[in-house]
Amino acid sequence: SSFGHFGFDEQLMHYIRKSEYSTPTPIQAQGVPIAMSGRDIIGIAKTGSGKTAAFIWPLLIHIMDQKDIKPGDGPIGLICAPTRELSQQIHQECKKFGKAYNIHTVCAYGGGNMWEQTKACQAGCEILVATPGRLIDLVKRKATNLERVTFLVLDEADRMFDMGFEPQVRSIANHVRPDRQTLLFSATFRKKVERLARDILTDPIRVIQ
Ligand code: AMP
Repeated sequence: SSFGHFGFDEQLMHYIRKSEYSTPTPIQAQGVPIAMSGRDIIGIAKTGSGKTAAFIWPLLIHIMDQKDIKPGDGPIGLICAPTRELSQQIHQECKKFGKAYNIHTVCAYGGGNMWEQTKACQAGCEILVATPGRLIDLVKRKATNLERVTFLVLDEADRMFDMGFEPQVRSIANHVRPDRQTLLFSATFRKKVERLARDILTDPIRVIQ
């Protein structure tokens, strides 16, 4: 399998070549076409599987397909991750590939500087990567809003649950328009994650690493 099968344009392929990935990982080979078709996904995958790019590439294309981008509005793509470390890693990947289309990403996590994160949100972004608690804080303070979000990613859902973020994750999903596309990633598929998937995904396809 090769990246040619995805039908990515030259701009994105340029940055994929630059990253020196020789071939898609299994989660990318399976997940990218499904995500690009607009379907919801349950991805069972661990860190190291290449899952981050598997949702970032389709997200970038989803954003480019939106015609009415108004600067200063809230994000189109929202990615929730359990920790500062993971959200920063995702942010790095978003920046790396977002360059292809000049797409801006903001990263907000608990413990980080609230004022700086607020300023970054208000400067405008198409992608927001955030830990659940901090995201809710930012929305409450009107630093950002979820009205424009049409692509929601919940990364490491099992870890978010282990950290006690289940109410926040559910609240976030309930505040995003129901006709969004949702991708849920988890290293394990336990009862709690299964229940969340049933509650917030629409007719998902399961992709296993
Ligand atoms: P992730 O599982 O998303 O945390 O990715 C783990 C690491 O694999 C990251 O350093 C990525 O940059 C890298 N990676 C992602 N996709 C590929 C690929 N197709 N080929 C080689 N490395 C990759």
